[in-house]
Amino acid sequence: FEKLKRGLAKTRDLLLTDVNDIILGKKEIDQELFDELEEALIAADVGPAFTAELIERMTDSVRRKELDSPERLKEVLRNTMKAILKKNEAPLVLPKNGIFTILVVGVNGTGKTTTIGKLAHQFKEQGHSVLMVAADTFRAAAIEQLEIWSQRVGVPLIKQKMNSDPSAVVFDAIAAAKTGRADVLIVDTAGRLHTQVNLMEEMKKMKRVMSRELPGAPHEVLLVLDATTGQNAVSQAKMFSDSVGVTGLVLTKLDGTSKGGVILRIAKEYNIPIRYIGIGEGLDDLREFSSEDFVSALFE
Ligand code: GDP
Repeated sequence: FEKLKRGLAKTRDLLLTDVNDIILGKKEIDQELFDELEEALIAADVGPAFTAELIERMTDSVRRKELDSPERLKEVLRNTMKAILKKNEAPLVLPKNGIFTILVVGVNGTGKTTTIGKLAHQFKEQGHSVLMVAADTFRAAAIEQLEIWSQRVGVPLIKQKMNSDPSAVVFDAIAAAKTGRADVLIVDTAGRLHTQVNLMEEMKKMKRVMSRELPGAPHEVLLVLDATTGQNAVSQAKMFSDSVGVTGLVLTKLDGTSKGGVILRIAKEYNIPIRYIGIGEGLDDLREFSSEDFVSALFE
């Protein structure tokens, strides 16, 4: 928790310093206070929908006389954030039997490879036999990076030559898993934005091949988003969920950004569970998302 708190320090500074300033010197809750609060929330990247719901709930609390002094505002703010984020809290649960397949998607540079390495490590620690799958065959660097993680965490990598068909790599991986070599497959995919249409078609094909070879696969389509990119992360969430369908989110690089509020925005606007958050480059710096811990780290 202390690590999470340190990681979220910049976001906390941005959000709470403003909120404290607004409360300071105010004797009553009035429209002016709400206007200032609204401005601070928008500045913190939490998005219009989240801000609107927050202000609405607070206005309600004033009406019900639960919120009767500016000092109580922070408490109501905290509880409301928690309530909104709670809806997006749903940890990824791996079944006891069968092969579980995770397709990891996202734009290059968001932290896909790192997340795959960290996940492979966690699942291995939990006793699973994991395979990493190099289905970004477009960049030699992508395969090399995965190779490094594969050695680092001691999890085998399924790969082919550069420029081979990503679906063929996935096919191989599923065949290997079926022979009993693995019960979890974590598939890296290409994230080149400038060829968006091809990329999405490639993903759809991969999904088709997976479900043909293994009913129910992919069991999870995990979208990796970089929290430091704020608004870009929001549009990537839209692009990927519209085109390939996303079943879970990972928000990386929450450490060292003041834009962590974007998690609230994405939670509110896209009803996709937030599975994990990344708070550093180390092996253990990928945490299961907990609304309770997240909000506590922001306010304590
Ligand atoms: P990819 O291109 O999407 O596969 O991105 P990489 O996994 O190579 O990550 C890009 C950079 O972001 C690397 O330098 C990672 O170490 C770094 N990174 C990934 N996740 C996190 C995180 O949660 N926190 C921080 N501070 N850095 C991260």
